[in-house]
Amino acid sequence: MAVVRALLAASLLLSWRAGLSDAGIVEPPAIILSRAVRDSMNAVFARSNEHWDELADLNTMERMLGTVRPTQREYLGCLQGRADGETLRIDHWVPASDMKQLQLAVAGSCDTVPDLVGTFHTHPYHADLRNLPVKERRLSPQDLKTFAASRLAVTVVVWDRDSLDAAARDRDGRIVHPARIVVE
Ligand SMILES: [Zn+2]
Repeated sequence: MAVVRALLAASLLLSWRAGLSDAGIVEPPAIILSRAVRDSMNAVFARSNEHWDELADLNTMERMLGTVRPTQREYLGCLQGRADGETLRIDHWVPASDMKQLQLAVAGSCDTVPDLVGTFHTHPYHADLRNLPVKERRLSPQDLKTFAASRLAVTVVVWDRDSLDAAARDRDGRIVHPARIVVE
């Protein structure tokens, strides 16, 4: 019984420290994205998505074999901002250095960026066998793994215009996904 009580006390303490919401979900600091950042992310998405349907002339066999042409490419940006009490404000970004842009992945460095709080990248559409867009609406398991291994506070993917998916760390350093982003 003593053990149960001790455990209960410990979990109460933990929920207080982690800022549990009414629903029992651990809340990360609120993430606030400036409109200018959101608009420029939209522009970057449009550019990285420009050629997504240029595989239309490949025949079905070529598409099934996964013939890849360098059409659309993912893009990596370094998010800058500041933690301000219970909020994390993102008001600027710069391109990652040494960016290696591939169709299904992107790499680069944000190591020397001042006021770094996180990263964003794009998920351009893929064409299905009928050349219709397939949208990757979420951070991939690999994206989340990369984020978990980093010391960043937030990571965001832009998968369509005005469409974001984000992961963030709560106050205990645990990863919350999806995390809510407010544009202001
Ligand atoms: Zn991704």
